[in-house]
Amino acid sequence: MPAPRRKTLEATRRQDEPAVRLWGRTLLIADDDRAVLSQIRAGLEGFGYAFVEAHDGTEVLTALRKAQPDLLLMDVEMPGLGGVEITRIVKANQSTSGFGFIPVILMTARRTTGKVEGLELGADDYLTKPFDMLELAARVRSMLRLKALQDALVDKNKELDRANKELEEKRQELLLLSRTDGLTQLINRRHFEERLAAEFARAARYRAPLSCFLLDIDHFKKVNDTWGHPFGDVVLKEVAGVARRALRDVDVLARYGGEELIALLPETTPEEAWRAAERVRLGVEAMRLTNRSRPEPAVVRCTASIGVATFPGEGIDTAETLVQAADECLYVAKQSGRNQVRQSGEA
Ligand code: GH3
Ligand code: MG
Ligand code: MG
Ligand code: MG
Repeated sequence: MPAPRRKTLEATRRQDEPAVRLWGRTLLIADDDRAVLSQIRAGLEGFGYAFVEAHDGTEVLTALRKAQPDLLLMDVEMPGLGGVEITRIVKANQSTSGFGFIPVILMTARRTTGKVEGLELGADDYLTKPFDMLELAARVRSMLRLKALQDALVDKNKELDRANKELEEKRQELLLLSRTDGLTQLINRRHFEERLAAEFARAARYRAPLSCFLLDIDHFKKVNDTWGHPFGDVVLKEVAGVARRALRDVDVLARYGGEELIALLPETTPEEAWRAAERVRLGVEAMRLTNRSRPEPAVVRCTASIGVATFPGEGIDTAETLVQAADECLYVAKQSGRNQVRQSGEA
């Protein structure tokens, strides 16, 4: 029967080759009997495998680390650590931080009881000595295919992880973008409304004061008319920066509309809120911006009016009435001559 057998082997080779390339794979072969190792090498000649040999359990463990083999073909009975113990170690360290997945084929002279025992101990396949060379070659190939598929899976998973991470970063970027005002880089009104709801709920629940102020640049139309709309943008950006720097990190500052900013000051009493608003007003008043649109550079100054309100307060019991009260105070500030802070409940 030798002729048909050889034919089968060749057919197997041809059939497998295009799918997974097994050429150049590393086999760790371990047996205390050197004659068996030679026999294995001879039987697997011509497949293009690389071989690493070990003669006892300790050598196997060293070679596993050094050679990172694609397959471990190992004798069960070896001095010191035997094949069964080594298999247990290999399978217990299958994670990518350990050895990774390495298929194990155990070899033994025991014919009957060994097979079940070997497979139960996590060996992926089992051969009994003396082995049929054709069977050995077929089992090795099948295990190497398994390993190749496993490697591809690990790579795919890594790729997937990378893609997921990228996607998450993009999602965060988009989220930030959707919440940010492009000109001032402050949060926009839509996101402010969300923050307001959350901060108000917190304040109501913990009975903590929540202050709010609305700022509107004075005579901003005139700034635009005199220096041009683009320069108006520069002024607006600068006012936003001044306000942001005058407030605490926990304070929420947003662009509320055209040249109006709104701030939420958690756990801030009316007195503290007034001081914060006054700090912002003085900061805006101190701004000096240079306009170079004319032959002579001009220093441009501006002022802002601010209305402040605090929850809880007279008629202030919802997020809406809090903002409304700040808006009414802003109106009073404008009516009273601008460049000033006015506050709800003030004398
Ligand atoms: P008041 O002191 O009463 O607030 O006078 P004002 O001129 O500032 O009046 P108002 O607040 O009604 O006008 C706001 C102006 O701000 C009108 C609009 O052209 C201008 N504006 C709104 N958004 C922008 C912006 O993004 N860039 C620039 N440059 N101007 C803006
Ligand atoms: Mg042995
Ligand atoms: Mg204005
Ligand atoms: Mg306005």
